[in-house]
Amino acid sequence: MKFAVISRGDEHSNDIKSKLQIHLENKKLEMDNDNPNIVITVGGDGTLLYAFHRYKSILDHTAFVGIHTGHLGFYADWSVDEMVFLALEVAKEQAQIVEYPLLSVELTFHDEQAPISYLALNESTVKSVAPTLVVDVEINNAPFECFRGDGLCFSTPSGSTAYNKSLGGALIHPSIPVMQMAEMASINNRVYRTIGSSLVFPEHHIVKLYPNNQDQFRLSIDHLNSIHTNVKTITFKVSERTVRFARYRSFPFWNRVRDSFIGMGR
Ligand code: NAD
Repeated sequence: MKFAVISRGDEHSNDIKSKLQIHLENKKLEMDNDNPNIVITVGGDGTLLYAFHRYKSILDHTAFVGIHTGHLGFYADWSVDEMVFLALEVAKEQAQIVEYPLLSVELTFHDEQAPISYLALNESTVKSVAPTLVVDVEINNAPFECFRGDGLCFSTPSGSTAYNKSLGGALIHPSIPVMQMAEMASINNRVYRTIGSSLVFPEHHIVKLYPNNQDQFRLSIDHLNSIHTNVKTITFKVSERTVRFARYRSFPFWNRVRDSFIGMGR
């Protein structure tokens, strides 16, 4: 089995990375930064997001596991104290693989620009560079609403605990293949109306945004941001692809929610 270790880049994470590599090589595992079967991140959730995007072309034969060198993360849920145990478990090559849903995003343009496709592990947000985002929202080819406000956030179940949570969206167990649309400060008065609640869509449902004007759009895909002009449509759906996580011990999602947001369990 081939492995890669990705560090956040700070001194402590780099030190843990070096120690982990030695442990794994002592167990006769081969390091391969280009085509690993297992990617171990050392840092935080952001480090795992970075690694996901680095290896997104080989998701079908790569699994991820995260060590946190700061606070407990949702993806980075192994502590530094557990590193030796984790190395032993990785070397046994008997991981349980759990698959989490991903979000597919596609942009089309009014001019000849080719469509652009993205894959998100946490979420994708759309904001206007102008003060207010104005977009027509279509669900499964039927007009739904005209959204005016700061922006819209489309999240995966595993991303529901990230930006989506700050927006008041629901927390969704990652075993359910859905995407969630949450509003950012929508304008609601006698003239403008949006649904107000977060919406949860099953697989194969498609949400399409039609910009109402020639504004520039700020699109985020996890930690990555880009600005686009001449946008015709932005389409969101549950991706046909999934991300694989290697599990070596039980740490249920709801326990991670409790430990991260409520405090450690009794
Ligand atoms: P960052 O360093 O600003 O991290 C933001 C925080 O989000 C960190 O505490 C991280 O642990 C946490 N986080 C990331 N993924 C999570 C998940 N799936 N569940 C629970 N917490 C999670 O930025 P970064 O490390 O580059 O991470 C980018 C992420 O930051 C984005 O995907 C987005 O979810 C999040 N974000 C949140 C807000 C907000 O809550 N208002 C705003 C912008 C971005």
